Amino acid sequence: MAQALKAIKGMNDILPPDSARWEWLEDKVRTLMARYGYANIRTPIVEPTALFVRGLGEVTDIVEKEMYSFEDRMNGDQLTLRPENTAGVVRAVAEHSLLYDGGKRVYYMGPMFRHERPQRGRYRQFHQIGAEALGFAGPDVDAELILMCRSLWRDIGLSDVRLELNSLGQPEERRAHRQALIAYFERHRDQLDTDAQRRLHSNPLRILDTKNPAMQSLVEAAPKLMDFLGEASLKHLDAVKAVLDANGLSYRINPRLVRGMDYYNLTVFEWVTDRLGSQGTVCGGGRYDYLIEQIGGKPAPAVGWALGVERVLELLKELGVQPDTPAPHAYAVIPQAGALPRALQLIEGLRAAGVSVLMHAAGKEGPGSMKSQFKKADASGARFALVFGEDELAQGQVAVKALRDAQQPQVLRPLDDPAAWAAELLDA
Ligand code: ATP
Ligand code: MG
Repeated sequence: MAQALKAIKGMNDILPPDSARWEWLEDKVRTLMARYGYANIRTPIVEPTALFVRGLGEVTDIVEKEMYSFEDRMNGDQLTLRPENTAGVVRAVAEHSLLYDGGKRVYYMGPMFRHERPQRGRYRQFHQIGAEALGFAGPDVDAELILMCRSLWRDIGLSDVRLELNSLGQPEERRAHRQALIAYFERHRDQLDTDAQRRLHSNPLRILDTKNPAMQSLVEAAPKLMDFLGEASLKHLDAVKAVLDANGLSYRINPRLVRGMDYYNLTVFEWVTDRLGSQGTVCGGGRYDYLIEQIGGKPAPAVGWALGVERVLELLKELGVQPDTPAPHAYAVIPQAGALPRALQLIEGLRAAGVSVLMHAAGKEGPGSMKSQFKKADASGARFALVFGEDELAQGQVAVKALRDAQQPQVLRPLDDPAAWAAELLDA
């Protein structure tokens, strides 16, 4: 036998029955997005490498060490598997002048790729669901997007996540803060790890994002961007806070929250939990008013968030939330092969009427004993068995037997008019 091939490390198969949990979450998201007026957008998984280098910033974890980049063999183009999707959405919106008649609200779901060390909640192919509101400058949309997350947590039964909020202000405010930050870290150079030393002059803000425990107290005492914000930035933050307050949504202002990409300004936020170890951020987002311009589009403000599907599902599991995954309405028990044509005719009629029917599949040796068929019917979770016995078929009928309710009598139903009684099998 040939050596068995395996999936790439950090890239997972999503198999049944687990895949039902994914579909359940995706359905909840579609309903949520419709409620908030966000339309679906789908962009390519492969983009020009330059999009991420220019969009995310050269001195970021993603661009420095996490991107899957390669050269197109046909023409030498530099390409990258998308590590996130905000840049791709922005490219698409600019390329197709989607903002020509005003702002747009969009959402996406799909795989992202980052070369990281695989561990619980951190994979090389992972999935994000994201929402972006483009062309809107006001704090109202920031607040709407945050409230939308809370609404999703409620819809899926996710508790134990809390909101952290910060403002990154505007570029000139960041520059003043940056000078103070560099001066501070230079005074404490001996306490910086090699990553931080390297970033001291290229991107000192990123040092605040360090996961190195040895640097926590140093970073804790560093100059805070919040103290450098001007009146307009503070007003924007206050307006977001006022909406959250009015909606009873509590949050913590975290002055160290800087996020992993360079493109953010003003509002940034994260939804975090203590239950997933160091992979505790389930969702992150913020405003990125300069990104569109940065990648060559007509300047327009924007704000959005992205959540990690694996982390959300992991947290739900941790919390014991069991999404209801649908069982078939009926299981078709087919005692002998001769019954198959008539049985399938009826089953197709029921399916056309909206009934989900799992057909007993016969092996090469025939359909198998009634006992084994009923065992499978039971295990399927179906509420009814449709029994295509010889006597019933001869009378043009099928027996309908309730599997979950011993009191409910077995009944006979006509083979030739499934639409007339299909509703009996649907969920009460
Ligand atoms: P972290 O600090 O955990 O590396 P991040 O800041 O890199 O996260 P973002 O780029 O903001 O993450 O992506 C948004 C969300 O996507 C994260 O909050 C997380 O839930 C999820 N995510 C990011 N990277 C991964 C990964 N490698 N595997 C699984 N989920 C991920
Ligand atoms: Mg990361």
